[in-house]
Amino acid sequence: MLEVSIIKCLMDNYSYLIKDKETNLVGVVDPSEFKPVDVEISRTYKKLDFILNTHHHFDHIGGNTDLKKKYNSKIIASTYDEKRIPDIDIKKKDGDFFSIGKTNFKVVHIPGHTLGHICFFSKQSKVLFVGDTLFSLGCGRIFEGTFEQMFESLEKIKNLPKDTMIYCGHEYTDNNGKFCISIDKKNEKLKDRIKEVQIKRKRNQPTLPVSLGQELDTNIFLRCDDKKIKNNIKMKTSSELEIFTKLRNLKDKF
Ligand code: ZN
Ligand code: FE
Repeated sequence: MLEVSIIKCLMDNYSYLIKDKETNLVGVVDPSEFKPVDVEISRTYKKLDFILNTHHHFDHIGGNTDLKKKYNSKIIASTYDEKRIPDIDIKKKDGDFFSIGKTNFKVVHIPGHTLGHICFFSKQSKVLFVGDTLFSLGCGRIFEGTFEQMFESLEKIKNLPKDTMIYCGHEYTDNNGKFCISIDKKNEKLKDRIKEVQIKRKRNQPTLPVSLGQELDTNIFLRCDDKKIKNNIKMKTSSELEIFTKLRNLKDKF
């Protein structure tokens, strides 16, 4: 089994420290910066075997070089990002597997936010490290890919088991909730989630991880086939991709 701890970095980033309990192998997902990750490692496991990166943005790889130097870690990242993430040791493409001790991960290519973006899914541990593609109650901005690519990437995530716990790259849930409720005004499950999020944020607690099942009920970007959402934006007869495109554009201006 996998132990996951959350490390707050920069303004609103999360890096995730993971340990395979059987073998004590340790990794970090998306180390935004060296210092807070190093502090947490010094306090806990005192070693770092692997660094996992979901994509090339600096707020996800900023700690790579110094952590690798200090702990002699191996960097696991996307083959598609081999020219943009320095010193990758283990390159992975869509459908590849790797393991941290006894915990197996599948790599899924989910382009849209960036072209090389990947996520790490462990079926046995029921966890998904999703970077900046899916956020709780939102999704990533489309910087490099097309709307269609992002939509397809979210479809891949939607098809994973509902009890998968999702770990996102940023704490954006509170603000995302405001946009969701402006479109999906009568969704009771969304209202409950927003209340829960407000309580957590007041206590300065993370709103992550969140289950895929809960996101499917509350995140409008995963619910582009919902009749009420289509009605609310006056696009009754539009396709799911058209709804997604409209919602993403509205969110950019929100
Ligand atoms: Zn990013
Ligand atoms: Fe980011």
